Amino acid sequence: MKNHYETLGVASSATPKEIKKAYRALALKFHPDKNPGDAAAEEKFKELATAYEILSDPEKRREYDEGLKGRAASGPGFRERSGPGGHGSPGGHAPFGADAESMSVDEILRRFGGIFGGEFGEEVHRSRGPSRPGHDAEVALDVDFRTATLGGKVSVSLSGAVACTHCDGRGATGDDPRCPRCLGSGRTTVQSKDKGEFFTVTRPCATCHGTGVDPSKECPECQGEGTIEKTRRVNITIPEGTEDKATLRLRGLGGAGTGGGAPGDLRVHVRVRPDPVYHREGNDIHSDVPVPMATAALGGKTPMRTLHGQVQLAIPPGTSSGAQLRLRGQGIRGGDHVARVMIQSPPSLTPRQRELFEELKKSEA
Ligand SMILES: [Zn+2]
Ligand SMILES: [Zn+2]
Repeated sequence: MKNHYETLGVASSATPKEIKKAYRALALKFHPDKNPGDAAAEEKFKELATAYEILSDPEKRREYDEGLKGRAASGPGFRERSGPGGHGSPGGHAPFGADAESMSVDEILRRFGGIFGGEFGEEVHRSRGPSRPGHDAEVALDVDFRTATLGGKVSVSLSGAVACTHCDGRGATGDDPRCPRCLGSGRTTVQSKDKGEFFTVTRPCATCHGTGVDPSKECPECQGEGTIEKTRRVNITIPEGTEDKATLRLRGLGGAGTGGGAPGDLRVHVRVRPDPVYHREGNDIHSDVPVPMATAALGGKTPMRTLHGQVQLAIPPGTSSGAQLRLRGQGIRGGDHVARVMIQSPPSLTPRQRELFEELKKSEA
């Protein structure tokens, strides 16, 4: 079986615009209206819709790509795995688009007919008619331990469709971009006479090809799409206590909507980089703290750092290695810092220290 990229004749790195363009061209070629009664063309038309159904949806495309990678790695029999954050849906969405394959030609035309432009009449009204919300976008983000636990801002670069600023997402410029011939309806009605009887025929407008927009006023920046592909930098706020594999949902930072539709959301899959000193258990932070021998035996204070700064850790007399001392409220969101005592021998001894340790040893015997 051909993969969906091969079906559409595009590279696996193709942009959404390239995919749409390729689908449009091929779907027009194999359109049932152009190939009446041709079962092979209809099959091909359905196959194209299946490919487009998957590749035009960022979420489905990502899952499909993962599936392809998996197939390449482990051959047939590979089962789609869940993505980060467990949002994947094994058994839910079929990676090879069974849902589109079972679509009828009518269903395909209803869903995707809009992108054929004026060539097939009716369908075009759906493309510019009701507004459509933008797709949700996703990004994986590595965050250092400190930012994740204490909260902070991380700047990420996102690419995807954003509303065209030249035309404010309308796809057209000027106060009245309506097509002068059809006055924006996208259709023209003509009177015909057949066998002595008059009747009216409604056709897609020949001037605007059914879009309803004056072709001379189509926005030059976005070619009338209302959106453009763009890479932008976005500051993401990481809330205090964000855990590894958490998913943050940022409203309105996904793909731009069309026809004034709301933008989609951005889902950020967070991976927290481990820290060499601290580790987290719930809202508690754990770390090892070196304590000199005499302080451990006699009690005292030793300096250490929590995530919030420098503190003096109180060591009770007779503390052993491995003892856990709790600093209340020094963890995350009111959690504690748990210091594990690591008693340290002096790396070298002065003659006086040696004398004292010898004496101590004798007393232990
Ligand atoms: Zn524009
Ligand atoms: Zn028109």
